[in-house]
Amino acid sequence: MPEDVAAIDDLIKKVISYNPEADVKLLEKAYAFSSEAHGNQTRIEGSPYIEHPLAVASILADMKMDTTTIAAGLLHDTIEDTKVTVKNIKALFGNDVAFLVNALTKLSRMEFMTKEEAQAENFRRMLLAMAENVRVILIKFADRLHNMKTLEHLPEPTRKRIAAETRDIYAPIANRLGIGWLKIEFEDLSFKFLLPELYEELVKKIAKRKEEQEGYLKGVAVEIEKRLKEENIAGKVSHRIKHCYGIYQKMQKQRITFEQVHDVLGIRIITDTKANCYAVMGIIHSLWMPVPGRFKDYIGVPKSNMYQSLHTTVIGPKGERVEFQIRTEDMNRIAEDGIASHWRYKEKGAINEKDSRYISWLRELIQSQKEFSNAKDFLEEVKGAVIPDVVYVFTPKGDIKELPVGSTPVDLAYSIHTQVGHRCVGAKIDGKIVPLKYHLRNGDTVDIITSPVHGPSRDWLKFVVTQRAKSRIKQWIKTEERKQSIELGTKLLEEDLKRHSLGASMLKSDSMLEIAKSFGIHSLEDLLVSVGYGRLSPHQVINKLLPEKPAEEVTTKTVKPQVEQKGISIKGIDNILYHTAKCCFPIPGDNLVGFITRGKGVTIHNRKCHNLERLAIDDARLVDVEWKQEGDSTYPARLLVETVDKPGILANLSALISSVNVNIRHLEASSTVEKKAHIGFILEVKDKKQLAALMQKIASVDGILRVKR
Ligand code: MN
Repeated sequence: MPEDVAAIDDLIKKVISYNPEADVKLLEKAYAFSSEAHGNQTRIEGSPYIEHPLAVASILADMKMDTTTIAAGLLHDTIEDTKVTVKNIKALFGNDVAFLVNALTKLSRMEFMTKEEAQAENFRRMLLAMAENVRVILIKFADRLHNMKTLEHLPEPTRKRIAAETRDIYAPIANRLGIGWLKIEFEDLSFKFLLPELYEELVKKIAKRKEEQEGYLKGVAVEIEKRLKEENIAGKVSHRIKHCYGIYQKMQKQRITFEQVHDVLGIRIITDTKANCYAVMGIIHSLWMPVPGRFKDYIGVPKSNMYQSLHTTVIGPKGERVEFQIRTEDMNRIAEDGIASHWRYKEKGAINEKDSRYISWLRELIQSQKEFSNAKDFLEEVKGAVIPDVVYVFTPKGDIKELPVGSTPVDLAYSIHTQVGHRCVGAKIDGKIVPLKYHLRNGDTVDIITSPVHGPSRDWLKFVVTQRAKSRIKQWIKTEERKQSIELGTKLLEEDLKRHSLGASMLKSDSMLEIAKSFGIHSLEDLLVSVGYGRLSPHQVINKLLPEKPAEEVTTKTVKPQVEQKGISIKGIDNILYHTAKCCFPIPGDNLVGFITRGKGVTIHNRKCHNLERLAIDDARLVDVEWKQEGDSTYPARLLVETVDKPGILANLSALISSVNVNIRHLEASSTVEKKAHIGFILEVKDKKQLAALMQKIASVDGILRVKR
């Protein structure tokens, strides 16, 4: 087909323009192979499938990638969508191309339950792929970019899902890797599909603004060019237009209208040296008055994605604000291409030092990912971590620390050293003591106050924002709880040994280890922990040391009869002290879970209880629980009823409840301003079935708005 020939020729021309020694044969071979493999497959809108890999390769050529990467781009969907295998590709194109195509195939194979899980998993795979080889991610980016550009052919729900994923995952990663143009394309394309009307409206308004201001900005540019010439400073002056999504974000964040956004259009000046950047800024400030607080020196303090530039806003010749960006050619290249600029065709191979700085945040993320069992939690964490907003603070010695916005002195302390974090008791900023939850601000000089006798508190988890601080605090709490359990377990067992006139030395004996093993526990320390947590009672342990005796004699020696023992079994272990939780009032028929308290037995919760999330920092302390139904026992259950506030309704309810033989143990009623009443009952019920039947009856009474447990 003649069109195809033209297309591959265009690609090759493009590659040769920046890489005259490119391996053209390899590209032609990859194209022919991919074409053949995809055969007469078509894209959803009906065009031949090969157009997609060709477009992906062309984007990679725009990024000036090496031929290996571009060949892999041409082949990227062959393993996934055709009969081609990795072996085929390895044999024809060598190890490097095969590795890339294989990695991309792995990235795209996903089947998950929920959108959130899929997103988290997608993100995790991308991180791993990137850490392995940056080129994989660049090809994946090109693939996604072309898919976004042809998104209108997909059905609405798929379109929205892919657009949201691009906005939430692809754009932040592109930003973190410093590929400015790609971040902008990802953001604007997803904006276009997520909020089409708003997008169209903004595009129109921006075009109009451009028309109105272009002449004015040209005047400003001419004036600067003249001055630069006089001062003999090199400088290329150009316009820049803020991208659509950037404007939208600014409007949202500052709650302003489009008309109130001042920096839609701005001027960018590219000069030759760092010193001249400052000189150009001096000239601008001498011509027009700078707006206070709008000057930013990202040359002195680069952004975390290595973006460097000077930003300033001035009151221009007609009293209008004009924003300037001043940078060198090199800085501009990094702002546009980021990590991709290091992966150009000339620089194949190993990751250089600059790349490794881009990638170090990645490694931290992958590390933190291991600490999350739940995909949703991880995604939340990751979204927090890729948001590039950072604050820069100083240590008393003048070292700069970069932390995410919202960080507290505790986050800073942990970023200095784990021990500084653990021992942190307060902080001084510019000589003034601030609370530990204080939100650090740009430029703060922070002096962390430590005390050797202090340790972290569980409350810190509520306000720290860095993953590092969170995981160190959790780790400390776990260790500390284990230490305390060992102490408590030792004490309890020693007391019980004494009661049976046995020496404390028994605790370290071989027979104690035998006993531990009989419970499936592998060390003495873990046995102590089990007793300390309340998983095992001291009695269960010590009993095994005693000679067999008639049953009643043993019972006389137990400490005290345990309360509320009937009905519940815990993982087949009997004789365990438990009580039901007063937050969720579980009853037979509920799905239950036990929480092992320290020394006070097990608390039984309804699995749906919202307190569990807070309690269950350590999964090891949750046990499966079953309710063995017994006779006519009743259990307390809570019921909340919302009614319209009218006389007699409470009497009606009470009568109804009594009529089904349920006791009311306690009742509380209050009315609200909206003429509603809230009534809380504690009832005595046999099980969930009885309660559910009652709830249904109550719900059908006239004037009842809501019934819930
Ligand atoms: Mn593809």
